[in-house]
Amino acid sequence: MAFVLPVPDPVTVPVAGTDDLFPVRRIFCVGRNYEAHAREMGLTEREPPFFFAKFADAIRPNGSVLPYPPLTEDFHHEGELVVAIGKGGRDIAAADALAHVFGYAAGLDMTRRDVQWAAKKAGKPWDMGKNFPGAAPISTIHPIAQTGPLERGALVLTVNGTVRQQGDLADMIWSIPETIAHLSRYGALEAGDLIFTGTPAGVGPVLPGDRIDLRIDGLTPLTVVIGPAD
Ligand code: MN
Repeated sequence: MAFVLPVPDPVTVPVAGTDDLFPVRRIFCVGRNYEAHAREMGLTEREPPFFFAKFADAIRPNGSVLPYPPLTEDFHHEGELVVAIGKGGRDIAAADALAHVFGYAAGLDMTRRDVQWAAKKAGKPWDMGKNFPGAAPISTIHPIAQTGPLERGALVLTVNGTVRQQGDLADMIWSIPETIAHLSRYGALEAGDLIFTGTPAGVGPVLPGDRIDLRIDGLTPLTVVIGPAD
């Protein structure tokens, strides 16, 4: 038997300090996981975590030029800690969750905010605001064997050198183990899955020519430049 179409190359992310590659299976994202950002998005009280997804091929490597995407006039950065899953499982207990983590990276949950808001307001799915080519740039993955569990540490995002987002991983509403526990109740997590763990306050627009730098303590910084309209 033969494939009737060319089989796409796997989507991969480099592993820090090695020539190895992490094969990406799926991308899950946590919504509103820092209190100040939840407030800026209009939320007033604590609610269970919720999730959305991006296609694996939304990934772009560190140093990319991201074309300004079509059908938006409000293209936003969301700087986030990304958790790479190394061992799958269903109904994972929070106490066991870190055994399922391969490592961590800095990532951007790039968002067509106007498209997302319009969908939200109409009670429609927001996928087209969140899931599009180039919507998930990510830096090198650092194995947890080297970093240890990341429970605190500064996350700072600058645009053209000006600080836009500044938070601490300790301020997540749902910790990484709790997030893995919740998400794995909806269905099995698989080795190769990535989880974008939410963004602190200060999300905002970028324009062609802007440079975004995201630094998370202990991880390789992520830099992207916004290119001309696609
Ligand atoms: Mn986000």
